[in-house]
Amino acid sequence: MATLTLHPGKEKSVLRRHPWLFSGSIAQLDGRARPGDTVDVVSCDGRPLARAAWSPASQIRARVWSFDPEETIDHAFFKRRVAAAVARRAALPELAAQQGLRLIHAESDGLPGVIADRYGDTVVVQLTTVGADKWRAAIADSLLKAIGCSRIYERSDAEVRSLEGLQPVTGWLLGEAPGDELVIEENGVKMAVDIVGGHKTGFYLDQRDNRRRVAELARDRRVLNCFCYTAGFSLQALAGGAREVVSMDSSGPALATGQRNLALNPQLDAARAIWLEADVFAELRNLRGGASYDLIVLDPPKFAHTAAHAERAARAYKDINLSALRLLAPGGLLMTYSCSGGVTAELFQKIVAGAALDAGRTARIVQRLQGAADHPVDLAFPEGDYLKGLLLQVD
Ligand code: SAH
Repeated sequence: MATLTLHPGKEKSVLRRHPWLFSGSIAQLDGRARPGDTVDVVSCDGRPLARAAWSPASQIRARVWSFDPEETIDHAFFKRRVAAAVARRAALPELAAQQGLRLIHAESDGLPGVIADRYGDTVVVQLTTVGADKWRAAIADSLLKAIGCSRIYERSDAEVRSLEGLQPVTGWLLGEAPGDELVIEENGVKMAVDIVGGHKTGFYLDQRDNRRRVAELARDRRVLNCFCYTAGFSLQALAGGAREVVSMDSSGPALATGQRNLALNPQLDAARAIWLEADVFAELRNLRGGASYDLIVLDPPKFAHTAAHAERAARAYKDINLSALRLLAPGGLLMTYSCSGGVTAELFQKIVAGAALDAGRTARIVQRLQGAADHPVDLAFPEGDYLKGLLLQVD
């Protein structure tokens, strides 16, 4: 096995159990390592620290598999880590019975580059790093052993793979496409999941609890769901007794799936649903002076991939939050999110505060929101804390 020696002082972040080793922290690599191979990580004076996956194409040159420098990284390692991730979910009552569930949340489950989402008895795996890519077969087998699913589909087409020098890979690792559309039930509402063509692995599981919160808040309210994708928040609002729900997205196919999802739920009143294919930035400005809403959800895509893009992202967040705050009726609620890794919760709150000031609205935080428990955040890995939200009540 090759040995990766760190520059003096650069062992500190490894000792704090942060799993990323940036190019600037690496002094030298002794021995031969192909992309994805496991390497021994040692401090400048040769002290063993960890075992990591070597990724020469990426600025994150290595990602730690184990902080035990003696632990063998083999099929059995993945079996242990996958089983532990599955067991953590089974131990949380709100997760145990979910049909749609994130089983593996990458770094925060000790498996950098590995995402696995379960939809009924189908599991969708996404491998985003060259280290994870190399262990595809062991990861798929470990998932099968841990949960006994019937099918495993690989959806490794995330853009970040290119940073690792990897091509997209998609296809069935176990079983084959089911005859029927994949449908899960979430908070009592049926939702179709397009694992082949949908975003991420097909569905935004991280917003499960927040969608339920919307159901609790929606009674008799006029709701505007911006960036609605397949209408997850919208259907929860209808289930909660909303008077009217406007679902807005720029993607025609996402809206079409949203409408089909509504049809899957005959208990919901379809007459209260309005669909709007539009750019949220432009449309929120257009609506000004006309409509007003009692509850607005803003769940935009990632505007900043890294902290370097935070400034541009900040302008975009301010823009939509300002417009949304102006559209709220007195006493209205704004549920607003950022899923940009480069925008911290503190910065996001500042941006929204600026938007409220410019909108001339007094707004109070009544709840801070985050991803569901199957998207845990390892305390040693704050980068995993990507989803933050605020529930605001305006005067
Ligand atoms: N809230 C959703 C997930 C939102 S994903 C859920 O709970 O499932 C982000 C969505 O924003 C995508 O559907 C994408 O099509 C849409 N989108 C991206 N940019 C947009 C824009 N400028 N205007 C409208 N929709 C946009």
